[in-house]
Amino acid sequence: MITKLLRKVFRRQPAGQASPRGHARVTDTPAIIPRNQHGIRRDMISSAALRVCDGLQQQGYKAFVVGGAVRDLIAGITPKDFDVATNATPEQVVSVFRRARIIGRRFRIVHVMFGRDMIEVSTFRAMNDAETDEHGRILRDNVWGSQAEDAARRDFTVNALYYDPSSETVVDYHHGVADLKKKTMSMIGKPELRYREDPVRMLRAVRLSSKLGLTIDKQTRTPISEMADLLNNVPAARLFDEMLKLLTSGHALECLHRLRDHGLHHGLLPLLDVILEQPLGERFVTLALERTDQRVREGKSISPGFLFATLLWHEALANWEIRKARGETPMPALFEAMSEVLDQQAEKLAITKRIAGDIKDIWALQPRLDQRGGRRAFRLLEQPRFRAGYDFLVLRGESGEVDQELVDWWTDFQEGDNDQREALIAGLAPDRDGAPKRRRRRRTNSRRREDGAEQAQGGAASGSSSDDVA
Ligand code: ATP
Ligand code: MG
Repeated sequence: MITKLLRKVFRRQPAGQASPRGHARVTDTPAIIPRNQHGIRRDMISSAALRVCDGLQQQGYKAFVVGGAVRDLIAGITPKDFDVATNATPEQVVSVFRRARIIGRRFRIVHVMFGRDMIEVSTFRAMNDAETDEHGRILRDNVWGSQAEDAARRDFTVNALYYDPSSETVVDYHHGVADLKKKTMSMIGKPELRYREDPVRMLRAVRLSSKLGLTIDKQTRTPISEMADLLNNVPAARLFDEMLKLLTSGHALECLHRLRDHGLHHGLLPLLDVILEQPLGERFVTLALERTDQRVREGKSISPGFLFATLLWHEALANWEIRKARGETPMPALFEAMSEVLDQQAEKLAITKRIAGDIKDIWALQPRLDQRGGRRAFRLLEQPRFRAGYDFLVLRGESGEVDQELVDWWTDFQEGDNDQREALIAGLAPDRDGAPKRRRRRRTNSRRREDGAEQAQGGAASGSSSDDVA
């Protein structure tokens, strides 16, 4: 009881401090920013988020669009998603909406569905009552608090903004709007403490500052390189989620270079070592990331499997070469190489099984694209993952890894009618079709083995191998 009381007294102590940021504090008097100063109009908010706020407010609760969406709208960026914060508990939120369910154990929130839209609703969190591990990392955070406390628990000042659709005002506890206008990214509270609570905030600092064109302020920036090791303590699935966000942010190349500048890549995420330190694949990876960034900025979809396949391709290739040089049979050696490379990543980064399956499919198609003789090209064309494999080949061609002739041949083969396709096959130079005919005719056993290998590859290419990975 006394401990609880003391904790309450102490956790509020910094609030009274007049010093600027540097210690966690609860600011009870936010700035209320009117519409003509923040520029957000109601019609910029998704109708689902508006319905959630209206629904909760009609029941007498507080409800705001919060965080990234408010930040992005003020910065003139279209938000990816809309989150809502409220003083209603998860159970109370669920009772207001027909299609809503509580998710998460360590951080309970509510998903409210409207048609195909989903809004994440989180209850205001209290200060300093979260359960932490021996490094200070927050393990469980389900203690409800006031809106002011909730604001102090968010990571950066620009992320602690609350938009109230009914009054069309922005509630700003930590000078977030001013920081956004100054193009500054600043941690709420003491950065060291906040990184300790959640090391992923270091990656978020890099990703969000790149996305928004903000400069991370000195206090927030300096501890990052010193505390980079804390990322070792973050669950692999969480790191994978964050890396995926970073790589699909539309600013992947810039983010990765910034990660390197902050010492966040070395030895921490094997994937980053690979991307940033492999001279062989650098051109290929840079090209792949440029294309991905471009697609994201054009609002096109991107496939995580394809992306990770490009990032790790040269690792797989190097591993495969070593195995072949040791005398291993090529196709099984490729499969071994693929598994080994993905397993190495899995220690730090939990690539999901589905994505690992996609990666393997794309890789396994590459040697097959070299084998065009007989009916092989026709069979390949029917593979469900052919298109991804072909797109991958195009990148390999552009980076100079394979002959452009091979890429052009496949482009023509896809676009051609049946006669043109037959002509393309007939026109293959004997050493270009990948099928050493004389050897095959003489050794029927090896032909059978080859068919077997091809079936195995076909399985991978159609996605059926996804269960044996990751
Ligand atoms: P984006 O959606 O563009 O990736 P975001 O800031 O909206 O960026 P979300 O993961 O959607 O990121 O989080 C929504 C809000 O929740 C954030 O704006 C921030 O206020 C808060 N938040 C998210 N992650 C953290 C964290 N690790 N620590 C503290 N607050 C966080
Ligand atoms: Mg968001």
